[in-house]
Amino acid sequence: MAFEISLAGRTAVITGSNSGIGLGMAWEIARAGADVVLNSFSDRDEDHAIAEEIAKATGTNTRYIQADMSKGDQCRRLISDAGKCDILINNAGIQHVAPIPEFPVDKWDAIIAINMSSAFHTTAIALPMMREAGWGRIINVSSAHGLTASPFKAAYVAAKHGVVGLTKTTALETAQEPITANAICPGYVLTPIVEKQIPDTMREYNMTREEVIQNVMLKRQPSKEFATTEQLGGTAVFLCSDAAAQITGTTISVDGGWTAL
Ligand code: NAD
Repeated sequence: MAFEISLAGRTAVITGSNSGIGLGMAWEIARAGADVVLNSFSDRDEDHAIAEEIAKATGTNTRYIQADMSKGDQCRRLISDAGKCDILINNAGIQHVAPIPEFPVDKWDAIIAINMSSAFHTTAIALPMMREAGWGRIINVSSAHGLTASPFKAAYVAAKHGVVGLTKTTALETAQEPITANAICPGYVLTPIVEKQIPDTMREYNMTREEVIQNVMLKRQPSKEFATTEQLGGTAVFLCSDAAAQITGTTISVDGGWTAL
């Protein structure tokens, strides 16, 4: 049996997809033929323009729905408003770096809500829709920090490990159905969430931009290269393919060897 990857007729909802990895995944999933629902908390003309650009380039019915993933009711409303959700990609995420005694409580709460709890809320509404449709794929964007830890990233590491646990439970609850649930664990990818950390780290360590990238960020990434949003999009498309139908409840690292160390 030859495996072909066509996602025509499917609808994918990708949380936090107006930039970075989520946007890269949106492009690759739409190129494979699925209609995509893009999302973030903002409601700017440029958010809708990104969706129109993808729709035009790929011939899909790609659109943008505003919803704040820090709020459980808005997570649930996003999936209901999408109307159809064959592929759910929980990707929205934020970062904050501080030692535990100084870690701001509001940052802890926001990171747990956006990076972890949002995936519980969207999954709760999407699963019955997938069961009704008789097919589904859930892809949770965790991190190398869902499998290992770093100091000063308590909330992020806790949330990303939590997402891996949620993924395994989702997979067990759907194991005998044509639905899979997996987590993608990227290493460093040069997106706005990472770009924002560079100036502070340059100041903190008195380093140049290139020194921060090579000696701090890519220190634990043996390939010494960032993963790209296109590669992560390709991994998501693969997990939606028939070849991946028996891959469930696991993690796929796209981290240049980080977690092999
Ligand atoms: P990014 O900042 O470009 O993307 C984050 C996305 O989440 C944006 O679209 C943003 O608008 C959205 N978002 C933030 N708060 C939101 C909210 N309250 N409601 C809805 N959307 C919200 O960064 P990215 O690197 O593309 O991150 C995407 C995911 O990948 C995150 O979960 C991140 O933790 C994970 N990740 C990133 C890296 C990396 O190196 N860039 C590595 C591992 C994991």
